[in-house]
Amino acid sequence: MNNITIQEEYSLPSKGLVYGKPFDPVVKLRSMTVAEEMKRLTATENPYKTMSEIIEDCLVTKLPIPVYDLCLGDYQYLLHKLRVVTYGPDYSLSVMCPFCGNFFDRSINLDELKVNEYTEDILKELVVDLPTTGKKVELRLQTPRDLDKIEQKKKEMKKQFPDMKEDPTILLNLESLIKSIDGQPVNPATIQNTLKKLPLRDSMKIMQRAEKISGLIGIDNGLVSECPNCGREINSTFRFTSEFFRPEID
Ligand SMILES: [Zn+2]
Repeated sequence: MNNITIQEEYSLPSKGLVYGKPFDPVVKLRSMTVAEEMKRLTATENPYKTMSEIIEDCLVTKLPIPVYDLCLGDYQYLLHKLRVVTYGPDYSLSVMCPFCGNFFDRSINLDELKVNEYTEDILKELVVDLPTTGKKVELRLQTPRDLDKIEQKKKEMKKQFPDMKEDPTILLNLESLIKSIDGQPVNPATIQNTLKKLPLRDSMKIMQRAEKISGLIGIDNGLVSECPNCGREINSTFRFTSEFFRPEID
C-alpha cells in the first residue's frame, strides 16, 4: 500500500511574496488518505487548525512557515487543490435563481476557477487613510490562525462577561486586521479600547478595504451561471458544501 497517493505540483497565488521572508511558492501536494479523513471528521474547537494540519500532512514539499500562518488566499487555494488531488476537480452545487426562484444543480471544474495572483498593487491597498479621524492604518493579511483566534476570543469574552449583550465580532475582526496606526505598531493591551472609540465610518472603511484585499489573492469565488428556467445570467459566489470533501463516487 505504499506510494499509491497522487501527487501534483502547484504554485501559491501569493507567489510567496507576502510573508516576512520571500520563499519558493511551488509545493507538491498528495491526495488524502483515511488517516486524514479521520482527522477531518474529529470534533474540534479550532476548525482552521485541523484543516491546516491536514494540508500540512499532505504537503510533500514543506513550506518554511506553517500552513496555519499562510494568508487566507493561499490557504483556501491549497484547500481547493487538496480536494482536486484527492477526488478530482468535478464539483456539483445547487444555485437559486434570484429572478424566477428556480433551484438548479450545476457542476463546475475546480481547476478552472480563476485564481488571482499577487501583484504589487496589494501593498498600496494595505494602507488605509481613515476618512473621519484622518489616521493612517496599515492592515495585515489574515490567516487561518487568526480566524480560529477570533472565535476563541469570542468564547472567552462570553465566559468572562456572561451578561454581555453586544456581539464582539466586529471588534475582534478589526483587532486582527490592524497592524499599525500612524506608523505605531498596535499595542495588544490597549487596542480594543482604542477601537471601541473609532468612528463607525472609519471602521467601515477598514472592513470594506479588508474585503477588497481578501479578493486580490487566491481563488476567485465569483460564479456565473445561466438559469435553465428563465435563461437569465446569475452572479453568485462559490460555496463549500458537504460535497467538497464528500463527493458522490460512482
Ligand atoms: Zn431563473
